[in-house]
Amino acid sequence: ATEAEELDLVIIGGGVAGYVGAIKAGQSGMKVACIEKRGALGGTCLNVGCIPSKSLLNNSHLYHTIKHDTKKRGIIVGDVQLDLKAMMGAKDTSVAGLTKGVEFLFKKNNVDYVKGTGAFVNEHEIKVDLNEGGERTLRAKNIIIATGSEATPFPGLEIDEKRVISSTGALSLDAVPKKMVVIGGGIIGLEMASVYCRLGADVTVVEYLGAIGGPGMDSEIAKQSQKILAKQGLKFKLNTKVVKGDASGESVKIEVEAAKGGKQETLEADVVLVAIGRRPYTKGLGLENVGLETDDRGRVVIDKEYRTKIPHIRVIGDVTFGPMLAHKAEEEAVAVIEYIQQGYGHVNYGAIPAVMYTYPEVAWVGQSEEDLKKADVKYKVGNFPFSANSRAKTNLDTDGFVKFLADAETDRILGVHIIGANAGEMIAEGTLALEYGASTEDVARTCHAHPTLAEAFKEAAMSTYGKAIHY
Ligand code: FAD
Ligand code: NAD
Repeated sequence: ATEAEELDLVIIGGGVAGYVGAIKAGQSGMKVACIEKRGALGGTCLNVGCIPSKSLLNNSHLYHTIKHDTKKRGIIVGDVQLDLKAMMGAKDTSVAGLTKGVEFLFKKNNVDYVKGTGAFVNEHEIKVDLNEGGERTLRAKNIIIATGSEATPFPGLEIDEKRVISSTGALSLDAVPKKMVVIGGGIIGLEMASVYCRLGADVTVVEYLGAIGGPGMDSEIAKQSQKILAKQGLKFKLNTKVVKGDASGESVKIEVEAAKGGKQETLEADVVLVAIGRRPYTKGLGLENVGLETDDRGRVVIDKEYRTKIPHIRVIGDVTFGPMLAHKAEEEAVAVIEYIQQGYGHVNYGAIPAVMYTYPEVAWVGQSEEDLKKADVKYKVGNFPFSANSRAKTNLDTDGFVKFLADAETDRILGVHIIGANAGEMIAEGTLALEYGASTEDVARTCHAHPTLAEAFKEAAMSTYGKAIHY
């Protein structure tokens, strides 16, 4: 081993949490190294998550639209064909461009990119098994754990990424399956189910709960989204749990039973996607060498300043508490560097947007009706359907609505929920409103350009404190 190098900061993991933290530290002159083992920066999000999934979602949506939805728009197209290999190629090009971009930003901000697997030797030293062979020991005043998460496996159903796949396999199948079963109707399940349904697969989503969308989605929105996705051809089995899987035969067999009541059934598929959640990843990190523990869900325990019980070792992103979202990881990365440098930082966990990139998109920020009922908060509701919005009508894209939840007495916005084309972009306005403590009247009195989908946002706010004009 070489002699340990002394740094201000070592970050383990080059995902969104790790790379953003490294750039922020480098920008302010800290001597920083970021250790990443996968051979590319950007973590799950850029390599096998947000970015490749959105590439496939966008291009499969275009394919589906061109194949099935042009006639009413006055466009006659010929024989539309799918070239899955090229669609995957387009995805790979986007991923490569972005991960290389992060590498460039590392150089620009003097971040030492260490390619290898890092593990604690002691409270200040990390040993790196270098990808190219050999090892290097880094010694630092501060250490950040940003090792992310991995797909939760389904017991007894081994993931081979060909017939039994996680989201990673779903991002690089070499053929569209005839029959696909998706275990879990959360965001990963629904996004990937949408991709393959649009490309021609017969897809059944099995969900244990009585609603799709995973945790946090307002139930009125979840119901509407399910209806629209069902019209697109997706099949749903709600209140149904998967008990067992068997991939030994020609097709994969999935035994399901009613969540309550035990009615059993066997589903068969060429490909089964396991999308039942993700779990924190700390394998091989040597936490035991410094006496750090994880909780019952595998999360490294921290305080409000992201500190473990060893104060100069901090943890951010998917590997610890909070929603497993890239933009949450990014906020924490900036905050943690501010804590290290100046002793204070800021993340507003009450205003982190969530987006499901199906068609139409579903987006929300703040609390759902279920949250407010549980907390016994008195609230009022405002609604505006896209079918009454001029731009949505012009675009022949009128599915969905905007919903505001506001404090019954003060009119302060408590939650915004949108289902509709471009909901993922529109939610930024709701997030800003929530961050600024705006009332629905503040939004309703703000001029919005015409004709835009965002006018539905304004009118939903209008309908919360008064009356919408166009509905
Ligand atoms: P990760 O991105 O998992 O990065 C951790 C990195 O640490 C990895 O690259 C890993 O190789 C590395 N590492 C681990 N241990 C070591 C070690 N000992 N030494 C060196 N390196 C190590 N979120 C969104 O906000 N929007 C989306 O649209 C979205 N889509 C998604 C789609 C899919 C299919 C999936 C799976 C996830 C999606 N997510 C999305 C979630 C998002 O990817 C994560 O929230 C985000 O990547 C978390 O960032 P992170 O840096 O905490 O962890
Ligand atoms: P999830 O927790 O969102 O959903 C998993 C679903 O599987 C839940 O609805 C759960 O009830 C169901 N389930 C669990 N066990 C089951 C069983 N045995 N049978 C049937 N159903 C079962 O998890 P996910 O969809 O895997 O996503 C993981 C993480 O990745 C989430 O935190 C998500 O936020 C993040 N992600 C975000 C985006 C995005 O922001 N667009 C996209 C993909 C992933």
